[in-house]
Amino acid sequence: MKKDRFLKLKKRGIPFKTTVLSMFFLVTLTLILVLGLQLLYFAKKLSLESVDLKLNSLAFDIQNKIDSNNKINHNIVETLNILDEKDEKKIFNIYINILKNNNSLYAVFTGYKDGSFYEIINLNSHNSLHEVYGAKPTDSWLLIKISNSNLSKREVFLFDDNLEMTSSKITENDYNPTLRPWYKSAILSNEIIKTMPYAFSHINSNGITYAKQIDKSGNVVAIDVLIDDFKSIYKEHIKNDYIDIYIFNNNGEIISSLKEENQFFRSFFEYKKKNLEELVRPTIITFLNKKYIVQVIPIKNGDNSEYISIFADYDSILAPYELQVFNLLIIFTLTALIMVPIIIYFSGIIIKPIYELVKESLKIKRRRYESIKKVESSILEVSYLSSAFEDMSESIYKYQNSLEEQVKERTKELIDKNQELLKLSITDKLTEIYNRAKLDKTLQEEFNRSKRYKTEFSVILIDIDFFKKVNDTFGHQIGDDVLKESAQVLKNSIRLTDVLGRWGGEEFLIISPQTNLEGAVKIAEHINNAIKLYKFKTYPNKVTMSIGVASYFEDMSKIEEIVLNADKSLYKAKENGRDRVVYHEI
Ligand code: GH3
Ligand code: MG
Ligand code: MG
Repeated sequence: MKKDRFLKLKKRGIPFKTTVLSMFFLVTLTLILVLGLQLLYFAKKLSLESVDLKLNSLAFDIQNKIDSNNKINHNIVETLNILDEKDEKKIFNIYINILKNNNSLYAVFTGYKDGSFYEIINLNSHNSLHEVYGAKPTDSWLLIKISNSNLSKREVFLFDDNLEMTSSKITENDYNPTLRPWYKSAILSNEIIKTMPYAFSHINSNGITYAKQIDKSGNVVAIDVLIDDFKSIYKEHIKNDYIDIYIFNNNGEIISSLKEENQFFRSFFEYKKKNLEELVRPTIITFLNKKYIVQVIPIKNGDNSEYISIFADYDSILAPYELQVFNLLIIFTLTALIMVPIIIYFSGIIIKPIYELVKESLKIKRRRYESIKKVESSILEVSYLSSAFEDMSESIYKYQNSLEEQVKERTKELIDKNQELLKLSITDKLTEIYNRAKLDKTLQEEFNRSKRYKTEFSVILIDIDFFKKVNDTFGHQIGDDVLKESAQVLKNSIRLTDVLGRWGGEEFLIISPQTNLEGAVKIAEHINNAIKLYKFKTYPNKVTMSIGVASYFEDMSKIEEIVLNADKSLYKAKENGRDRVVYHEI
């Protein structure tokens, strides 16, 4: 193709399409890199934030639960404290009612200063209680009674749901309430005391005892509360199995946990117990060869400080965010790829008119202005370029045309001047007939021609008689007029082929080609007559001329000879009285 030809001729620089595409790929690649890194950074941040959010909302719910449990338990103890009842039947009913209304209560009891003891246990508060106390499945309540009348005996009664006694027994007693920690603490304080969580005997569960001394009586009312395992709250918040939750106290004792893998937590506590505050923000920690996002925030349980901690498997929590990042990058890359044909199309829109412009510009080079077309383009800048190109080619065209015109004009002037110069160089200024130079040249030419072709030619040398007198009598100006008019008389007397010129001063020479002596003498005679008859315009007298004629002869060695012969004849004519023709005889 023609297009390819001139592209091959001058292929310098990178094509526009390649430039645009490589720039696009460079920018896209950079964007993908920056975007990817940024998104990964945000994914990490989001993972940490999500852990933070989870733990905080969980801690908030648990704190509420702890606070409300505390409040309820305080109220129960307070209520028991007010009801300082002596009637055993009434005490039984009140305790049963309290237990019935509070599912988390394990037992309500009173320890008296004399060592007696009265306790009702809710058998349904823990699933191992029936077995421990040898109760039937239908039994609901257990009453333990130690009377001051016989402290070495303990009475145990079982009741069903309808408060019907189903069995009773008496056992040996070694239990003394006044020696128990809860009793001792309550006696020392006027407020409700709350024990640290401890393992309840007989059952595999932790509990807390709330207790208060009845009005400085030395008797203490108390409730046993099974520790809330918060499992339902955990389940509300944590749906993924790669997250674990622990609530623990200052000593690292676990109060509650989502899973039962306590060994993991204990190792962690040993490793980090000194710097728990550092973990108040979610932190990425590598522990036991695994990455975790760990966060520990304090909660309050009455006067006790406790902590709630979250352990989230880093890779698992990051995975969904990483997937999002991956998806986003794929979408971005696909979008970029879709852009490629669009870019090719649009760069084509730019390139095509540029190729057209190149083609049109070559027409300027070939000077085919008439076939230059305007290149249309929908791109504004290319359109500008095209218009500028059109203007440029038009002005080049005009300029070139005007240059050509000027050159033509100048050439003509030069030719004219040259012709004039040529004419001047061979013309005698005064008489306007040929000058000496032209005569010399013609003589040489005729001589050469005659030598070569063996033809003949003659010369006629003319001198005005007594011309000095004309000048002397009438002045130089009149002398000039006589010279001019004489030249005209001579001109009119010769043939077209004869060459007339001024030989010098008042002397003229006629070269007559192809003319023998006889012919030349005829011309000379004719001239001699004509001048005598001629009447000058400013000079009043007649003018005569003496004429010497000579012809070429074969042996003539140089041109000067013929002129010399004519001159000799002229001299003779002067000698013989002037106003005559004398010819040189060979
Ligand atoms: P002859 O008959 O012997 O030729 O006598 P003559 O006076 O013509 O000859 P001579 O050579 O003594 O004088 C020629 C004169 O022609 C001398 C010169 O002043 C005059 N003359 C030569 N050229 C010009 C010219 O161009 N203009 C004028 N007015 N006079 C010229
Ligand atoms: Mg003379
Ligand atoms: Mg003379």
